[in-house]
Amino acid sequence: MSQSAFAFVDGVLHAEGVSAVSLAEQFGTPLYVYSRAALTQAYQAYANACAGRRASVHVAVKANSNLAVLNVFARLGAGFDIVSSGELARVLAAGGKAENTVFSGVGKSAGEMREALAAGVKCFNVESIPELDRLNAVAASMGKTAPVSLRVNPDVDPKTHPYISTGLKANKFGVAFDDARATYRAAASMPNLHVVGIDCHIGSQITEISPYLDAVDRLLELVEQIEADGTKIHHIDVGGGLGIQYDTETPPDIGEFVKTLLDHIDARGHGHREVFFEPGRSVTGNAGILLTRVEFLKPGEEKNFAIVDAAMNDLARPAMYQAFHAIEPAVTRDAAAHVYDVVGPVCESGDWLGRDRQLAIEAGDLLAIRSAGAYGFVMSSNYNTRPRAAEVMVDGNDAHVVRARENVKDLFAGETVLPK
Ligand SMILES: *Cc1c(COP(=O)(O)O)cnc(C)c1O
Repeated sequence: MSQSAFAFVDGVLHAEGVSAVSLAEQFGTPLYVYSRAALTQAYQAYANACAGRRASVHVAVKANSNLAVLNVFARLGAGFDIVSSGELARVLAAGGKAENTVFSGVGKSAGEMREALAAGVKCFNVESIPELDRLNAVAASMGKTAPVSLRVNPDVDPKTHPYISTGLKANKFGVAFDDARATYRAAASMPNLHVVGIDCHIGSQITEISPYLDAVDRLLELVEQIEADGTKIHHIDVGGGLGIQYDTETPPDIGEFVKTLLDHIDARGHGHREVFFEPGRSVTGNAGILLTRVEFLKPGEEKNFAIVDAAMNDLARPAMYQAFHAIEPAVTRDAAAHVYDVVGPVCESGDWLGRDRQLAIEAGDLLAIRSAGAYGFVMSSNYNTRPRAAEVMVDGNDAHVVRARENVKDLFAGETVLPK
């Protein structure tokens, strides 16, 4: 956990060299704050473990797609994993390269395929035969050959929340393991496709290495069958999904995770293949916090509520997955703590950010919601006509607004009323 980027100095939380109090005063709340140093440190843990090996890192854009965040990774030489042509546009705008970008996702449109082929992406991660057919037709219409990999569902249990587990038989994702060999034969027979790899993505917030080793074993079994059928597999994409510490989880160290997987693939006699990693949460999650101010304290018979100015529209993970985020006052207060549910102003009982939290706070205090750098701002909405928060990136002693706070006028700028 990149705790060091967000640490207390004389009782005041700082993002690198900048105090959370001054950030909130200058830019308002709710406010997403990212640390360039923390993003860099997490990415480098992957990149350093891959150095000198046949391995590369494709950062999953959907975890945090702010241009400044993508640009930090692009400057470090990262590749990217995208799930829409919108994300491709962001990668290119942020200085990333199409030839280092892999295109994942279960429902790519013909238009998205065309844009990605024109840009020259490195690989399409395809999930079904109809998708292979569509990609082959699009590539043929452009006089191109599309590089493809099949996302295989290895049917391993990642031991995570059902909404973020993706590699079980009952999930919508991937080609069923038992159908994969035949699907590879179909892909190899299509004239405008070029099979280059195999991939999987078994879930998210996985805090053990063993499900990955199980998945890799299943993939390697298939690779041997596919090559026996005469199709060469150049790369193995092990997906993303490595967990982070939100609370008391103890995820493996990133470097150890990478090394264990690469050594395992080597030991199985597949070390000549390139290995792709697609981390999202583990490179951005603990590089961001969400600052929010307490509007009211509302004592109740059964529960005390701290009503804050951030809500489920700003950070959806608690409402969506019952996810835990650590919450703490940005300025430590020498007062008695009480137990609060930390909730937002949105008109939904599901609008909560933390439950049963021991906090020494008063109205007007500033709170920091930790581990908000992944699946935070990107999942935010305008529900209740709430303008989305600003995003700031701290770099040493400097803070840069990397996305301006929305204003209400922008929110209905595209709407019109009937003429009569
Ligand atoms: C979401 C996703 C990732 C990133 O997952 P994390 O859990 O954030 O690491 C990687 N690859 C694919 C295909 C994804 O859909």
